[in-house]
Amino acid sequence: MIETREGYAPQSPETLSAYLSGIERVRNILGGDPSRWRIAEVGDGNLNLVFIVRGDAGGVAVKQALPYVRLVGESWPLPLSRAHYEHMALSEQARLTGRLVPEIFHYDETLALIVMELLEPHVIMRRGMIAATLYPRFAEDISTFMSRTLYFTSDLALPAGRKKAMIAAFAGNTALCKITEDLIFTDPYRVADLNRWTSPQLDPYAARWREDGDLKVAVSRLKLKFLSSAEAMLHGDLHTGSIMLTPEDTRVIDPEFAFMGPMGFDTGAIVANFLLNYFSQDGHATSPGERDAYGEWVLATLEAIWTSFREKFLALWRENPAGDAYPASLFQGAEGEGRLETERQSYMDRLWADTVGFAAAKMIRRILGLAHNIDLEWIGDKDRRAVCEARALILARDMMVKPGDYPSVSALAERARRVRRDVIRY
Ligand code: ADP
Ligand code: MG
Repeated sequence: MIETREGYAPQSPETLSAYLSGIERVRNILGGDPSRWRIAEVGDGNLNLVFIVRGDAGGVAVKQALPYVRLVGESWPLPLSRAHYEHMALSEQARLTGRLVPEIFHYDETLALIVMELLEPHVIMRRGMIAATLYPRFAEDISTFMSRTLYFTSDLALPAGRKKAMIAAFAGNTALCKITEDLIFTDPYRVADLNRWTSPQLDPYAARWREDGDLKVAVSRLKLKFLSSAEAMLHGDLHTGSIMLTPEDTRVIDPEFAFMGPMGFDTGAIVANFLLNYFSQDGHATSPGERDAYGEWVLATLEAIWTSFREKFLALWRENPAGDAYPASLFQGAEGEGRLETERQSYMDRLWADTVGFAAAKMIRRILGLAHNIDLEWIGDKDRRAVCEARALILARDMMVKPGDYPSVSALAERARRVRRDVIRY
C-alpha cells in the first residue's frame, strides 16, 4: 500500500515556487521576485525528487521523498519517514563535521522535504572519477568525515544512555535497512527477479555465486553483523554517488539509509567504490595504458583514506575517551595505558577486517545485483566491461572468504594490481 499522509503532496516546479516563497529564510537566499525563480527537477537518484531552484540572489536544492521507490514505481512502496532520518543524520553530521555536508535551510516533516545548500560547481564524485579527475583533498576530507561521525556516535565517546537514545532515534528506519539486507546481503547469492549482470558474459559467475557455500556463510556473517551491531551512526549509503565535490571542497549527501550499525559498513562502502572504479578504468581507456596513472591515483588515495582514518580515529579515542566502553578506572598508570593502547590498535585491525568484508559485499552487489555503478555500466563494449567486472568479482570473493589475507590497505591495493594484471579474460 502506498502511504498517504495528511498535508503531503509531491511537489512540482509550479507548487514548489509558491511553497518556498512562504519561507522567509529561503526567500532571502533566492532573492528577487518568485515569479522569476527557475526550478528544474534533476533527481538522478533511485528514490527521491530533487529540485534545483535559482533566484536572482542565489540557489537552493530541494529534496523530497516519494511514498515509493522512484526507480521502480508505485509497485514498490517506501515510507516517507526516510526524510526524517535523512534530516536527523544530516543535522548530526553537520554538528560533527561542519562543512563536509550541505547546510540545511529548512525541513518540513509533513512534506518529507529538505531545503538545503545548492552545491555548485560540485559534481557527483563517481562521474568525476569516470572522467579521471584528480581530487587531492578527498582522502583528508572523507577520513575526517568518517572518523568524526563514527567515533563520536560510538560507545567509545558516548555514555550508554545517550548511545541507546540514538539507537532508539534511528530504530524506525527499518524499511531502508531492509533494502540493504535484501539487495546487498541476500539477492546476489540466490535467484532473484531483481538481479541483473552483464549477460551472457558473466552467466557462469552468477551461477557460481548461487552455489558457493563458503561465500554464502561469509556474506551471512556480514549480514548478521549489519543486523545486530549497533556500533555507531552510519551514513548507510556512503558510495561515490553520495559525494559531491570539487578538487577544493568535499560534501557528503544523501544519508537517508542512516541507522546505528557496524562502522565497517561505511568504511567498506568507500573502499568498494574505489576498487570498482579502479577496475573500471581499463574499460574507459581509449588507448592502452591511457588510464594507468589515474588508476594508481585511485589506489594511492584508497591507501591514504584508510591510513588517515585510522590515525584520526585513534587520536579522537585518545583525546576524548568519554564513553562507557573501556572504563578509565581499569586502565590506570603506565601499564594500564600500554594495555589500552595495544587494544586500540587491535580494535582498528578488527575494524579493517570488517571493512574488507563489507567492501567485498558491496562490490559483488554492484555487479550481480539490482543497482549497478555507472563506472562499469558506462563501458559500452560488453566484453571489455565483463573483463573489468570479472576482476572485481574475483578479488571480492577472495576478500570476503579470506579477509585474513588482506591484513593492511597496502596489501589490498597490491592484490588489486595483481588481479588486474593476471585476469585477462572473463
Ligand atoms: P536519492 O536519494 O534519490 O539518490 P540524492 O540525494 O542522491 O537522491 O540526490 C540525487 C541527485 O540530486 C544527486 O545525484 C545530485 O545530482 C543532485 N543533488 C542532490 N543534492 C544536491 C545539492 N545539495 N546540490 C546540488 N545537487 C544536488
Ligand atoms: Mg538516496
